[in-house]
Amino acid sequence: TSAAPLSALSADDLAARLTTVRAAYDELKAQGLKLDLTRGKPGADQLDLSNGLLTLPTTYLDRSGTDTRNYGGLEGLAEIREIFADLLGVDVASVVAGGNSSLTMMHQVLTALLLKGGPDSPRPWGQEPVVKFICPVPGYDRHFTMLAELGIEMLSVPMTPDGPDPVAVRALVANDPSVKGMWIVPTYANPTGAVCSAEVAAELMAMPTAAPDFRILWDNAYAVHHLTDVETKSADALGLAAASGHPNRPIMFASTSKITFAGAGVAALAASPENKAWYLQRLNFAAIGPDKINQLRHVEFFGDADGVRAHMRKHRALIAPKFAAVEDALSSRLTGLGIATWTVPTGGYFVNLDVLDGTASRVVALAKEAGIALTPAGSAYPHGNDPDDRNIRLAPTYPVLDEVVLAMAGVAVCVELAALEKLSA
Ligand code: PMP
Repeated sequence: TSAAPLSALSADDLAARLTTVRAAYDELKAQGLKLDLTRGKPGADQLDLSNGLLTLPTTYLDRSGTDTRNYGGLEGLAEIREIFADLLGVDVASVVAGGNSSLTMMHQVLTALLLKGGPDSPRPWGQEPVVKFICPVPGYDRHFTMLAELGIEMLSVPMTPDGPDPVAVRALVANDPSVKGMWIVPTYANPTGAVCSAEVAAELMAMPTAAPDFRILWDNAYAVHHLTDVETKSADALGLAAASGHPNRPIMFASTSKITFAGAGVAALAASPENKAWYLQRLNFAAIGPDKINQLRHVEFFGDADGVRAHMRKHRALIAPKFAAVEDALSSRLTGLGIATWTVPTGGYFVNLDVLDGTASRVVALAKEAGIALTPAGSAYPHGNDPDDRNIRLAPTYPVLDEVVLAMAGVAVCVELAALEKLSA
C-alpha cells in the first residue's frame, strides 16, 4: 500500500485503490467475524485478578469494632475512605465511600442540585428557567445522556491534550448565570486519554463564574489506570479550588469499577466540608448506610493504597498489549494516508479515532456489516451528534488480544474504504 495521502491520488489511482480495498473488505466480510469493541469493560482475565474478593471478608468487624453487617455509617468505612484519599490525593475527611457506582453518585448530586440547590445556590437549579452544563468533547457518553435525561442543556467545548480548553470554558461561564457546571474526566479522559494539567485545573478552579454555585463534576474514573511506567498524578482539584476561594466548586468521583469488579466495586465522592455535609444530608433520606461488607472486603483485599497500585500494574500487563495492537493496526495500515488520526493513550480504557470528516457513521456501518461492533458514531458528543461525523471511540479491553488484532485490522479497512468512497464521490 502506498503512503501517499489519498487526497493526492489521481482519479484513476483512486478508482484502482477503491477496487483493491473493496476486495479486502469483501474478504473481511467473508470471515464472518463476531467482535465487539463497543464498551470499556474489563476483560474476563482482568476480573479474575480480583477473584480473591469472592471469599472475603474474613471478619465482619471493621477496624473500630463496628459490625459491618448492620445498618449505619453513611460516609463509609474509615479504612476504605483512607485508601481512596491516598489514591485521589485528598484528605480522608473529604471522602464518602458509597455503593457500587460512581455514576449513581453523580446522578444523586445532580438531582439534589436540581431539587434542593447546593449550599451556595440562590434557589434549586430546577427553579431556574434554564440550566446549562459545559461538556468537553469528545467526552463520556453517559455524562451527556444523564444531562439530557435531567433536562440540562449542553454546551460543548473542545478537549485539548491538557484537558478542556480553558479559554472556551471561561467565555461560557463569565456572564451567563444559567451555566451551572461542567464535566471533566481529568486523568486519561474517556475517550481521548488526555490528562488535565495542573495549569488548566488551576484556571478552571479559579475562573470567575456568573453562577455563584458553579460545580465542576471531576470524574476521576481512571485516576490509577496507567498504561505505562509513568504513573501520572491527577491535578489537586480540591486544593486548587480551596486556594482560589472556590472550595465548593469541585466534586470529585471515583470507583473501583475498573480496579476490581465493574459491577460490584466501591464508589467514592470527595468534596469540601460544606459539600460533603450537603451530600450526606441528602443521602440521609435515601439510605441508612452503604454496603460496608463490600467495603471491608475491598480493604482486606488491598490492605492499602499501594496494594491498589500493585493490582493496577497487573491490569496494565493484561491490557497494554491490546492497546499496542490497536496502535500497530492503525499505524501500519493508515499512516500517511491523510484520512485518520488517533490517540496513543498512556492510561485509561479508550483510543480516540478521528477519521475523514463525514465518514465516521459509514465506518461504523461498514464494520457492523463485517461483524465488528463499534460504539455508534457521535456517541462521545451531546445528543449523539458529532457535527463533523469524524469521531469513533475504540474500547479494546474486553475482547481477547487475538480478537483485538482481528477487529482492528478490519476497522482499518473500513476507515480506508469509507474515505475512498467519499473521495471518489
Ligand atoms: N466515569 C467514566 C468517565 C467512565 O468511563 C465510567 C465507566 N465507563 C464511569 C464513570 C462509570 O463508573 P461506575 O462504574 O463507578 O458507575
